Amino acid sequence: MEDLFAKARNVREKIFGKKVFLYGFVYFTTWCRNDCTFCYYRKSNEIERYRKDPEEVFRLSKELADSGVHLIDLTMGEDLRYYSEDFNSLVDIINQIKSELGLPVMISPGVLNGDQIEKISKSCADWYALYQETHNKALFEKLRINQSYDERMRAKLYAKEKGMLIEEGIMSGIGESYEDIADSLIEMGRVGASQMRIMSFVPQIGSPMEKIKTPDRMIELKAIALMRIAYPWALIPTSLDVDGIAGLEARLNAGGNVVTSIIPPRTGLAGVAQNSMDVDDGGRTVEEVKKILERIGLEAATAQEYKDYIGKLKCRK
Ligand code: SF4
Repeated sequence: MEDLFAKARNVREKIFGKKVFLYGFVYFTTWCRNDCTFCYYRKSNEIERYRKDPEEVFRLSKELADSGVHLIDLTMGEDLRYYSEDFNSLVDIINQIKSELGLPVMISPGVLNGDQIEKISKSCADWYALYQETHNKALFEKLRINQSYDERMRAKLYAKEKGMLIEEGIMSGIGESYEDIADSLIEMGRVGASQMRIMSFVPQIGSPMEKIKTPDRMIELKAIALMRIAYPWALIPTSLDVDGIAGLEARLNAGGNVVTSIIPPRTGLAGVAQNSMDVDDGGRTVEEVKKILERIGLEAATAQEYKDYIGKLKCRK
């Protein structure tokens, strides 16, 4: 395993040197119309939810920008409020972040139709993140209840056609086989994902998968290394949303090069898989991430280096 991870680090170093990118995470509405079996925020779960208003979303994004992140990731459940107003307020927020903060924006809004994707792409959002979580269609149907595999796939491909970069992702520990993971690694390249992620499943209270054990992290780490070796240019997240700041070093040592789910403390914002871990005590901040980077001989890139790199990714699509 150490040979595999060392090889992945070598491949990363050739393209990115010591530089690592940092993403700020704003999960701005936890309302959702869907019932994914693995998710805490599924509509059947009776939990406290929030919906941040646009002014607050901007204020939180600014706080993250001031702390040194390179991108703002605007994530939402499939909140019907946004569908009913045709995503106008999301477009306004994207425009405001781009013009006033000067940072690239990723949106993770769930499945959008063609008109909505066109509207979002015209707002100059840089990334559309939409995860299948598995490319085994039978398993997909068990996980994403009453949702269409093909519609989800079409949405991200259409976003790519409209000039957006796309992020695809899978989860480990959800009933997949090793062969499924291998298929997914191939599929993520085939669809042209510029960013690809794997996250370990974390059981969520009140969900149908509450009693399923979280998987051995070695599966996630091996997949990170294999993605790095197969797709040297790819942006590969090391998410703080699975094991918090304590899990960062192992994921970076496996070849990841983007720290995701950086969340400002004490703002009422949640993570997705770990809704509160390390958030309010300030563990998921740029400051804490930089300490780990320094310890293992890496460093945060500059915002301009990130912009330059995604400019190159857009050209190679
Ligand atoms: S995974 Fe996303 S789409 Fe599915 S229930 Fe959770 S928030 Fe909704």
